[in-house]
Order: sequence, then C-alpha cells, then structure tokens
Amino acid sequence: MHICCGPCSITTLKTLLAQGFEVTGLFYNPNIHPLMEYVKRRDGCIQVAEKLGIKVIVKDGEYDPQKWFRAVAHRENNRCFHCYAMRMERTAQIARKGGFDYFTTTLLYSKHQKHDEIAALGRDLETEKTKFLYHDFREGWKEGIDVSKEWGIYRQQYCGCLYSENERYKKELGD
Ligand code: SF4
Repeated sequence: MHICCGPCSITTLKTLLAQGFEVTGLFYNPNIHPLMEYVKRRDGCIQVAEKLGIKVIVKDGEYDPQKWFRAVAHRENNRCFHCYAMRMERTAQIARKGGFDYFTTTLLYSKHQKHDEIAALGRDLETEKTKFLYHDFREGWKEGIDVSKEWGIYRQQYCGCLYSENERYKKELGD
C-alpha cells in the first residue's frame, strides 16, 4: 500500500489487516515539500507501521522534487492528477516486481483528494497478476484523526507540494 503520511495510514491499514491481508507499506512521495516536511511525514508513517506491525519500504533515495516539478510544470491546474499518477505508477511497478497480488493507496482515505480520479488511475494501472485494491477508506476518516492524535502522530497542515502550502497560508500575505 502506497502511504502518503502517518495519519492516513491508520484506518486504511487497520481495515486491510482486519480483512486478513498481509500488508507492506511503501513511502514514496516526492510531492512533499520542503525536505524537512517530508522527513516528518515519513517518520509518522514509520511510527504507525511499527505500531501495527507492518513492514514499510521507504524510498528516500527517490525523493526527487525536481522530477516532480518537471512532471507538473505547465500543467499546474491539473497537477494533482500528475502527482497521483507519478506515485501510483511507481507503486504499481514495485508491486508487480515484488510479486504482490494487489496494490492500493492511502490517497483513497482522504476527503480532500479527488477520490474517483485516484480509483480510475488504479484501475488503469492494474494487471492480471497485480490487481488494484479499491476500498472507500474515507469511512474511517474520523477514527483516523482521533487515533493519530491519541498516538501523537505528526499531522500536516497542507496537502504536500509548495502550491498547496501557498494556498493554505496565502492569507498571511498582505496586498
Ligand atoms: S495539492 Fe497534493 S495531490 Fe495535489 S499536486 Fe499538491 S501534493 Fe499533489
């Protein structure tokens, strides 16, 4: 399962584990800026994985914001689609190479993301051997927030990229 951050991974992981899946997490998110924000979210993901007893593959070596910016340049109005695609393509590729039966993403947990676009991308990327596992994880939204606070997991204030940080804080700017 592609994991974007600690809080989003709590009820998604719990749901899959309760359904009997053996889950491996993947932290691959070159969309998180700046670097120290990436580190905080990565560490939150690792904390949750340890608490729930799952293995997580961390792709620090592929933290390449330059590549991410090149993927969205001149497509800023549709940047989320390209951002989802980059992360999900890599997830599907790793799942195929690793011989996993399914791949999925915690992006399906967020009420702030374009859920149907993410689900459609997942279906486009699945193969006969490595299927996309769709689940509407948004049903665990409230529980995920409550548990993340209880466990003291880092909770971010913006989606991830510099554009989203700017949107979140632009009220701080004067005229
Ligand atoms: S707002 Fe979030 S999903 Fe959209 S491009 Fe930025 S980091 Fe990616």
